[in-house]
Amino acid sequence: MDQMKILFVEDVATDVEMARRELKKERIAFIDRVVDTEKDFEQALAVFQPDLIISDYAMPAFDGMRALTMARAQFDHIPFIVLTGSMNEETAVSCMKAGADDYVIKEKIKRLPFAVQEVLDKVQMAKEKERAENQLRESEEKYRILVENAGQVILVAQNGQIKFINSRVRDLLGYGPEEMLGRSFTEYIHPEDRETVANRHMQRVQGQDLPEGYTFRVVHRQGQTKWAEVNAVVIDWLGKPATLNFLTDITDRQDLENQLRQAQKMESVGRLAGGVAHDYNNMLSVIIGYTELALKETEPSDALHEDLQEILRAARRSSDITRQLLAFARKQTVDPQVLDLNEVVEDMLKILRRLIGEDIELAWRPGKDVWPVKMDPAQLDQILANLCVNARDAMTAGGRMSIQTGTVTFDQAYCAEHVGFVPGDFVLLGVSDNGCGMDEQIRKHIFEPFFTTKDRSKGTGLGLATVYGIVKQNQGFINVYSEPGVGTTFKIYLPGHLSPDVEKSKKKTDDDVSHSRGELVLVVEDEVSILKVTTRMLTRLGYTVLEATTPGRALELAREHAGQVHLLITDMIMPEMNGRDLADQLQALYPKLRVLFMSGYTDDVIAHCGILEPAVHFMPKPFSSQDLARKVREALEG
Ligand code: ADP
Ligand code: MG
Repeated sequence: MDQMKILFVEDVATDVEMARRELKKERIAFIDRVVDTEKDFEQALAVFQPDLIISDYAMPAFDGMRALTMARAQFDHIPFIVLTGSMNEETAVSCMKAGADDYVIKEKIKRLPFAVQEVLDKVQMAKEKERAENQLRESEEKYRILVENAGQVILVAQNGQIKFINSRVRDLLGYGPEEMLGRSFTEYIHPEDRETVANRHMQRVQGQDLPEGYTFRVVHRQGQTKWAEVNAVVIDWLGKPATLNFLTDITDRQDLENQLRQAQKMESVGRLAGGVAHDYNNMLSVIIGYTELALKETEPSDALHEDLQEILRAARRSSDITRQLLAFARKQTVDPQVLDLNEVVEDMLKILRRLIGEDIELAWRPGKDVWPVKMDPAQLDQILANLCVNARDAMTAGGRMSIQTGTVTFDQAYCAEHVGFVPGDFVLLGVSDNGCGMDEQIRKHIFEPFFTTKDRSKGTGLGLATVYGIVKQNQGFINVYSEPGVGTTFKIYLPGHLSPDVEKSKKKTDDDVSHSRGELVLVVEDEVSILKVTTRMLTRLGYTVLEATTPGRALELAREHAGQVHLLITDMIMPEMNGRDLADQLQALYPKLRVLFMSGYTDDVIAHCGILEPAVHFMPKPFSSQDLARKVREALEG
């Protein structure tokens, strides 16, 4: 304050003068006004706006107490000192009661400057206190706004007890902060994660160096499990160590991640299964081939004949299993065609009804104007058969099943929430049953190969793995809805093929076994046992055979040979050179040379697209001598 403004309320001029002198002596800087009537006083309050009032008690035209009342009616507290010649104890007390800040007796006027100073200090302090209080209130308000509007749950825990928590917790747990204060946070944690979280809290408080963030599960008031990510630091909370925790609800993210991890797991299991199945297939080719040859050498009356038949049956059954594995691993060669899904299902209905038996009612609900799909009809048959057999197995005492088709479109929003889905137009194939259903624990694993809940005699655990593989190979998706005791629905979505040229699904007819017309066949295969059995089959069919275990040897043989080589039968994948390149080189020597490829699966070379060009002749392993006979004729004549 540069110059203080003092308002004197005094009728005696000499008294004012005396007061001024005393104040100046103590180096108090001020300007002043003097009034001695109510009217002037009122005006001075409004216009002069004094910082301090020094007032006489009794005056001829005005009254000190009245002045005090008027001053107090003002909005601001103006310090008020009574300066009087005649003051007894009683008047002093009533002055102070009325709100005067101090009183000074004229005989002791020397005390005035000190009284003024004291009063001013007191006022100053009161003002500062008020300002501090305002600031505190304001900062508390800001802090409350920040904490309550934070996107995370903010929690302070001390000795395992919740000392502070913001209301964000309502979204995460369904409880309000007031219910949770003082309780143990572990109450809200999923039982399986409780110990971990409690230990971390303790270790952190004890000063151990832990990573700041981790995730755990909590249980919502309504019972559902949610995922929280916590970031924690140690703080000092009212003199004792505590943890400050920021919790984020990551339930949605976690669900997506789990789905993704599952998809990746399926991918790698598939690759493994595919590799095993491929090697296994080669061996099966040999077993089937020799058994067939041996069968032809034995009379049906021979005891050995029956045994050989059994070996052949077992080998064929094994080859069905490997075919399923390969389908799952997406390594089966496929022959996609544009198909009308409703037609394929209708063609299959009779077989499906036989498959599921008479106790089960099968309803067929074809969708209207279902788009065509482009895929191998045999794969669709496989999907339908697997789903129907599973549905049958799920229904012990009869039941109801339905197959439905339709058309759906997935938008961006749907795909954002469903791992593996992409936007677009899809054809739906749904198979439902009212059987035993599945719980969450089973549902998680059903697409894994070899996962089964059935007896060894009944289930292989390959059915759904196969379905999954086929659906993925065709860029489709699969969804399962199931409830224990209620039933199950599998929904398969296949990309719609928007072209009108729907072909009739080709029914392959078994030609009579075709024999040789004396052609020369060059067989190239690095697996010697397969080479041998193929050669023997061909020789039996009447072909002349040149055999080579490497492409290099094959080229040599071809160059040495004088006459025409009619057909090359070659493995696709060989160490030196792939079958495709070998065929190209040989065709340079013999332009009329026909080619038949064989493979356990079409790996790198043609399976980049996973699909064969229609003009290429291909024979999947394992094959029977009948298959071979027919394929060789097709390749030579087609
Ligand atoms: P498998 O039929 O050989 O057991 P799958 O891969 O076809 O192998 O099926 C795996 C498991 O999924 C089954 O063992 C069964 O527990 C469950 N499952 C499949 N389909 C259904 C269904 N429609 N209802 C109930 N459970 C099913
Ligand atoms: Mg099955």
